[in-house]
Amino acid sequence: MIPERIEHFRQVLAGKDVDVMLVVNPENRYYLSGFTGTSGALLISNKKAYLLTDFRYAGQAEQQAPHFKIKLFKDNYYEVISELIKSEGWNSLGIESKHISCHYHDQLKEKLKLKLVMLEESVEILRRIKDKSEIEELRLGAKKLDLAYKWLLEELRPGMVERDLAIELEIFLLRQGAERPSFSFIVASGERGSMPHGVASDKIMQNGELVTIDFGLVFNKYATDMTRTFALGNVDQRQQEIYDIVKRAQKAAAESVKPGITARDADKIARDIIEEVGYGEFFGHGLGHGVGLETHEQPSLNRKSEMILEPGMVITIEPGIYIPGWGGVRIEDMVLVTESGAERLTESSRELVII
Ligand code: ZN
Ligand code: ZN
Repeated sequence: MIPERIEHFRQVLAGKDVDVMLVVNPENRYYLSGFTGTSGALLISNKKAYLLTDFRYAGQAEQQAPHFKIKLFKDNYYEVISELIKSEGWNSLGIESKHISCHYHDQLKEKLKLKLVMLEESVEILRRIKDKSEIEELRLGAKKLDLAYKWLLEELRPGMVERDLAIELEIFLLRQGAERPSFSFIVASGERGSMPHGVASDKIMQNGELVTIDFGLVFNKYATDMTRTFALGNVDQRQQEIYDIVKRAQKAAAESVKPGITARDADKIARDIIEEVGYGEFFGHGLGHGVGLETHEQPSLNRKSEMILEPGMVITIEPGIYIPGWGGVRIEDMVLVTESGAERLTESSRELVII
């Protein structure tokens, strides 16, 4: 996979005015090289591929990144870059403008004395479309979330503290082989449910409340992300009504996903359903986002996104309704765009379960 990725990356660079590209973002670096060390950078030109790292990672770099020539640096890598610039005759250096600080930019400018070309996106363009091995990782990760859903059905109880549930859920998933959480889990019960990002608090979950649980972990470098809303003890008419609207919006949007549809149109399908019944103002975020080496990556699915969905994209579909003083509902699945439509990677029930 790595040689193909490097090749595709070179095609991206071919249209830009750069002799060589410096890749420092850890996810981009891993994507192109397979190297997992915490210190390092890639230099990729039309013909050459270098991995710059320090002595701690010498052996690891050789092993993980056989398609790169390894160059070790001592305190910082400006010297090594400088030498390579001279020996290779490079005149312009592409940099990842989204990932390079002002300080770093100034240092490069001062020490390297060559033309810097800011590229907002380079590797990210490739990362939108997952290759076979990535789809496999994401599929396996999503299956673990489905296991966690079953665990939730067993373990979630009224009277529990939100934070305790979040901790136990995280432990369960770490035991399933996860590396780390993708983000701080959201466990938002009762009125707290009106905060789309209500990170688990010390609140006790009570009978008669809805609780929204949004969780995901990183498995073998790939993030996962899923949300379910449960009812505690019993459910009243309004809770059931609002849940059913979100469920309908989520289903319609997930079923609309296919190659060729724009992210904006997929968002609109869910939004129209929620707006029709008068809750439009309470669906304040976009429909979803890409998932991969990062929890939130391209494509963004929202009202403005003109990005066209393509086979191999893995996205979330997560409409919600959040009413201040009342609470909220969100249902989120990871979905793979296929040649002919879409496949849900998280397959847990989307019915409202009363616990
Ligand atoms: Zn989520
Ligand atoms: Zn999400």
